[in-house]
Amino acid sequence: MSRPRPRSAREFQRAQALMPGGVNSPARAFGAVGGTPVFMERGEGAYLFDIDGHRYIDYIGSWGPHILGHRHPAILAAIQEALARGTSFGAPTVAESELAELIIAAVPSMERVRMVNSGTEATMSAIRAARGFTGRDAIVKFAGCYHGHVDSLLVKAGSGALTHGHPSSPGVPAGCTQDTWVLDFNDAQQVRDLFRTHGDRLAAVILEPVVGNMGLVIPHREFLETLRGECNRTGTVLIFDEVMTGFRLAYGGAQELFGIKPDLTTLGKIVGGGLPVGVYGGRQDIMQKVSPVGPVYQAGTLSGNPVAMAAGIATLKTLRDTNPYEALRDYTRRLAIGLSAEAAAAGLPHTCPHLGSMFTLFFHAEPVTNLASALRCDTALFARFFHELLDRGVYLACSQFEANFVSTAHTETDLEVTLNAARDAFRALAQTV
Ligand SMILES: *Cc1c(COP(=O)(O)O)cnc(C)c1O
Repeated sequence: MSRPRPRSAREFQRAQALMPGGVNSPARAFGAVGGTPVFMERGEGAYLFDIDGHRYIDYIGSWGPHILGHRHPAILAAIQEALARGTSFGAPTVAESELAELIIAAVPSMERVRMVNSGTEATMSAIRAARGFTGRDAIVKFAGCYHGHVDSLLVKAGSGALTHGHPSSPGVPAGCTQDTWVLDFNDAQQVRDLFRTHGDRLAAVILEPVVGNMGLVIPHREFLETLRGECNRTGTVLIFDEVMTGFRLAYGGAQELFGIKPDLTTLGKIVGGGLPVGVYGGRQDIMQKVSPVGPVYQAGTLSGNPVAMAAGIATLKTLRDTNPYEALRDYTRRLAIGLSAEAAAAGLPHTCPHLGSMFTLFFHAEPVTNLASALRCDTALFARFFHELLDRGVYLACSQFEANFVSTAHTETDLEVTLNAARDAFRALAQTV
């Protein structure tokens, strides 16, 4: 069953001598599961192909962007057409307005938008706009939520920051985080208590409305409603970080699904169709504080890049016109239920939440509602499950604390193959637990 990957092993050796950990983003390094990262050669639909010639059913989708699968023909065609006209002009293009119109139509709380180059840039800039608008410094985040590697937000952050064991990173001066309050996700009482004493000093609350970066954690409706109410009462800017959930859970993101309107929203991943794009935007009165109309400075040499805009436009138009969300939800639901059934049959403690096209199999018997409960998972068991699946051609996110993604390219056969692989993997684990 094992799949030898000698070329990946050699390339990993080479890369480690050149880049920290051999990677350009820590989550890729297999730090949480051990072993050698798989070097990929190409993608096609729901599949990745590694440099040793193995095929994998891909549930990472480049960590979120590829909701339409790899090499979607409409996206490739749009990129090629834009490429033929040039890669970057440093002047306005029509494509920027086209993508902005698509975003604003999809996410009505975003009255004005600004394009940037990554999710990190989007959250960093949204925080700055909120501080500039309110004239206040303090911000609130939630333990286990990840908002990119922004200094002020690298406190109890999720995703790679969680996996790699630096809840607060060296290199971030204390001054950068002294204005950051960290509360527990889904705890409405903590929110009310903090707002009672500090509500008039808070610039913003930022959260993943549905969390993907400590594994999938679904919000209690009351928690989101409390945040909306307290922010309204105190003039605090509510920021939904929908870099992962935007165009993923629904075309209008988590805010459409839960019917709650934030003041600012950040986007990334899907909105760039596989190229580097981030977006922040929201209420017109807040966004009018951003330069050049307002005093809050923010800029970017390659922001609104024409090739990236073309990929984003093609992605959003395809999603809008084909509305795949029901089908994605159906596949994901059956996959999550199937994984649960197989884990139960093998007698392994687990819970497998799913929402839209996101799911996480947690090796923990109780529901995961916040960071503390996520950290109770059996990460060693997860690591072994991950490798058992990898060796059977199924590529899950390489940490217990990540969400997995289904794309429109996944087929009934992929579902069946995945569940068969999972059954064999669970059996192999159960024999040695
Ligand atoms: C991925 C992610 C980010 C960071 O985006 P980058 O493009 O990696 O900088 C921010 N917030 C959330 C919720 C994310 O999932």
